[in-house]
Amino acid sequence: MNLRIPGPTPVPADVLAAMSRQMMNHRGPEFAEILADVTGRLKRLFQTENDLFVLTGSGTGAMEAAIVNFFSPGDNILVTSIGAFGDRFATIGKAFGANVERLDFDWDSPVDPLVVESRLKANPDIKAVLVTHNETSTGVTNNLASIAKVVNRYGKLFVVDAISSVGAIDLQTDAWGCDVVVTCSQKSWMAPPGLSMISVSPKAWETHAVAKMPRYYWDVSAAKRYLEIGQTPWTPAVSIFYALQISLAALEERGLSNVLKYHRELGEYTRAGLKALGLDLFAKDERFASDVVTAVKRPEGMDLKAFLRKLRVEHGVILAAGQARLSDSIFRVAHLGYVNKADIDDTLVAIKAVLPEVGVPVPPIRA
Ligand SMILES: *Cc1c(COP(=O)(O)O)cnc(C)c1O
Repeated sequence: MNLRIPGPTPVPADVLAAMSRQMMNHRGPEFAEILADVTGRLKRLFQTENDLFVLTGSGTGAMEAAIVNFFSPGDNILVTSIGAFGDRFATIGKAFGANVERLDFDWDSPVDPLVVESRLKANPDIKAVLVTHNETSTGVTNNLASIAKVVNRYGKLFVVDAISSVGAIDLQTDAWGCDVVVTCSQKSWMAPPGLSMISVSPKAWETHAVAKMPRYYWDVSAAKRYLEIGQTPWTPAVSIFYALQISLAALEERGLSNVLKYHRELGEYTRAGLKALGLDLFAKDERFASDVVTAVKRPEGMDLKAFLRKLRVEHGVILAAGQARLSDSIFRVAHLGYVNKADIDDTLVAIKAVLPEVGVPVPPIRA
């Protein structure tokens, strides 16, 4: 089986094996050691000295934590969206009573920092800017550094959904001034779903101190208090901690810059392979095409469901369709987490075999 969806990704055998370990006292010294090790590794991979907390929950839980911990009902927040996950951030903000100002861009394109700037200039009441670093639903990656520059120049809190980027695409939390950054275990981290992570800058702590949105489970004050005594406030997903400790060690051993380069090359390789089959990338400008997930336009007249079913049933290749308004117009090939060139080759061979069977001719160039 070649699981090529953007999370959960396959995980290495030793990571799987780590989860067969017996349970331990999550308030004992053994767990404290694992928690400290995992937190330290994540901070290095986030390129941050900010506080970082590992929460039990999926990525959306961490997104909720990024809202409820730093805002009060009625706060003006600017939510940029280039896809389904940007929309989700806006929805969560609204659910907790923020005054959400939306800044929407075409789903095949990145956020334009100049437009962010003019919005900040026009509305000085905006307290924060929320951005999806890598829009997993469309395979478009924002230029986070240039957006960060604008947001910091205006002194706003910068909140980043880096769920599918950090650990695979360069994200310099401290150097770029990212105040709150969230991710989760089943994306770049080569671990199963169950844990999410959030980093909190000193500026975000100041905001937190006066933020009045209701919160309990996701309260980062509680997470900080408990981390100081080597614990989490609530019972953590212990087995996922076992897994993450092994996968993070493997990532650090390879070295962050090597891991980032690996994904840049694999992204390039995947795009080239798909284009050679006569397919069109969804990203309008390939410079913003994601290095962790490639979205491809459904060829005219192709039955997308039949295509994906054939790949799954006859070739063991699992791809994702689009999300929301793109559910029938794109498909996505993921190359994040535990993946190598052979997985991509296998995917390309299968796609090449299936395309003519669903009425799409394939150019005869690729061997
Ligand atoms: C996967 C993903 C999420 C949602 O994470 P869940 O673990 O499914 O809750 C949010 N944002 C982005 C960018 C993602 O890739």
